[in-house]
This record gives sequence, C-alpha cells and structure tokens, in this order.
Amino acid sequence: MKKHQFETMTIHGGYRSNEFKGSLAPPIFQTSTFTFENAEQGERRFSGEEDGFIYSRLGNPTVASFEQRMAQLEQAEAALAFGSGMAAVSAILLSLTRAGDHILCSQGVYGCTFGLLKLMEEKYKITHDFSSMKSRDELLQAIRPETTCLYIETPINPTMQLVDLEMAADVGREKGIPVVVDNTFCSPYLQNPVALGCDIVVHSATKYISGHGDVIAGIAAGSKEMMAKIAQTTQKDIGGVLSPFDAWLLLRGLKTLAVRMDRHTENAEKLAAFLCDHVKVAQVYFPGNSKHPDYRIANKQMRKPGGLISFELKGDKRAAQAFMNELQLIQIAVSLGDAETLIQHPATMTHASVPPEDRVQMGISDSLLRLSVGLEAWEDLREDLENALAKI
Ligand SMILES: *Cc1c(COP(=O)(O)O)cnc(C)c1O
Repeated sequence: MKKHQFETMTIHGGYRSNEFKGSLAPPIFQTSTFTFENAEQGERRFSGEEDGFIYSRLGNPTVASFEQRMAQLEQAEAALAFGSGMAAVSAILLSLTRAGDHILCSQGVYGCTFGLLKLMEEKYKITHDFSSMKSRDELLQAIRPETTCLYIETPINPTMQLVDLEMAADVGREKGIPVVVDNTFCSPYLQNPVALGCDIVVHSATKYISGHGDVIAGIAAGSKEMMAKIAQTTQKDIGGVLSPFDAWLLLRGLKTLAVRMDRHTENAEKLAAFLCDHVKVAQVYFPGNSKHPDYRIANKQMRKPGGLISFELKGDKRAAQAFMNELQLIQIAVSLGDAETLIQHPATMTHASVPPEDRVQMGISDSLLRLSVGLEAWEDLREDLENALAKI
C-alpha cells in the first residue's frame, strides 16, 4: 500500500477489506490452529518454504493486522504483538542478553521492568545499572564491556525526565549496542524512536494504543531481522502472545489515536498551567512546561508533550492520600492513557516494590502524584482538582 500520513495509517494500516470478503471491520480469527490442505503443505509451512498460518501462538491474521499497522506507525520494518507490555519487555530483554551480560537503563523504569531486571540478576546473573543519560559522555562512561543493551524510558515514569534519543542512538550505534525504548508514555503519535535511530521500540499497548482501558497488551517493533529472531525464540517459546479478540480491540482503538492524543495533550496543557499556579502544589513535572529542565529535548523529539503530568503537593504522604480521596470525578487507579482521568500515588502503588532508597534516587517522593489526563471537559477536571486542593 502507498505510504500515507500517520492519521490515515492508524485507520487503514495493515488491513485490506478486499482480502476479507469486503468486511470493513477486520474479522476476529478466533481460532487456535489452521488446517493444511495436505501433509506436504504442512511440511512447507513448517519449513518456511510457504507463507501461511500454522497455529495462533506462531501467528494469527487479526494479530498480524495489528502488528503491521503498528510497524507502519512506528516507522519500523516489523512488529510483534504480545499479551501484555511486560511480555513484550521480557521477550526483548531476554533475547538481547545472556548470563554475564549487562543492561544499562535510564534513571527510572516502569515498576515491573525494575522487578524483571532484579529477577534476571538473581536468576541469570544478567546485571544492570541506571544512568541519567544526560550527556554522551555520561552514557559512554556508564557502558561496560559486557553491556549488550541500552534500555530507555522517555519520558521517565513517573518523574517525566527525558532522554535525548538521537544522542543515545548515536552512542548505541558507535558501540554496537542495541537501543531499546519503552515508548508507552508517548504512543507512536508523539514520538518515534526507530525513526530517531533507536533499534527497538516497545509499548504497553494497554495504555494509549488501546485508549479505552479494556485490554492488556504489548507490542515491540524494529528491524525485520531482529523481530524474526524474537518471533522464533522468546516470543514463540515463552509464549506471551496476544489474543485475536484483543488485537481487534487494539485495531479499533488505534483508529482514534491521533484525535485522542491531541485532546489528551490539550487538556494536560491546561491542567498543568493550573497546577503550576496553585499555592498547595510544590512542583509540576510536565514536558510541555517551558521551565521543564528537558524542554529542549521535548521540542526536538516529541510532536506534543502528551497527557501525563506528575506533581508534588506541599505536604507528606497523608496530604497526598487525603487529596486523592477528595476527588470526585478523577478516578484513583494505576494505568494511563484512558478516556477517564486517572490519578495514582507512585510511592505506594506503581513503585511500592522499589526499595525506598532507590525510589528517592529516581525522584519519587511520598507527595508525588501522577495524573493521566483523560478526554473529559478540562473545566470539569480543573474544578475537581481545585475542590480537592481546597479541602487539604
Ligand atoms: C504499563 C506499562 C508497562 C507494562 O505494561 P502491561 O501492559 O501492564 O504489562 C511497561 N512500561 C510502561 C511505561 C508502562 O506504563
């Protein structure tokens, strides 16, 4: 298909109705296996001599449409879908490392990614370090001879610091180390790490890609060669694949990605400005704020600042919890990227399993809150925040 603009590909990418009896919406291939016409065809499918489906853990037409659409949106050659964001992250990290290797991570990663890194260290002697990755020199100094992967989140969860992806991609290329980026906070609409020179992009598709809070899913995208290798090893044999129905939900969610992200961002910009001016708010972390320390990087690599805001209240954990309890419209929940505005307390929720000293190093205080700004009218959200702030 001719290459179209992003918005067009969110709707048409990876699916042609004429291949499916004219069905406008992609059919859900709810099947575990696929029959062969004869034994020889089975042999050809298994040897790779003939393209075609075999068994849904190895590939499924509905899932394949989602993978192709995501590859196009991330400007990557190929993509692989998984049953969760963590299934994607673990399949990628396990495929890039062996016992004795080292992973260099950005300063702060998703809580369960942190748990996975610990597990890999304890069970398989695959070590890791964190680096703020603020400059080329800092990154180069942190790389060890046994480093086989640079693993980056930007914006970093939940402190919203950024890493310059072109800089990291340059260093990775120079050193021959693959650069993996968790792009969940941005969605492919706001940032495309592969187009910036990084090797692999992963997402929790549970978040903005679904957009409706009704599915758990993950996706990874990169070169054909890397994706084929992962498909044949850590995806196929660990087996955390996506179900056809969930792929269908994601194909549906993607159609509105661009319009949703525009509104998430617009709402977040207005609420960030409101929070910045409030006397009970000590600090606001939002990449769209011109006082954000990484504002320059945001402008360079992100199309828009996105829908996530973290902020610190003046006060302690009790104040943060009292504030959350006073909210009427905004829901207390982890996750992000949904139509509903969600608020969570990282120190006791998403990052509760991170040891307190590591939390402090990551910049997660007891009064830090993370807001995933939804699609409601921003005036209603502001009023909810204002009323709750007035009560603490
Ligand atoms: C949610 C999330 C994950 C994990 O994804 P699941 O779909 O919950 O497994 C990984 N990284 C980031 C940044 C996330 O927000």
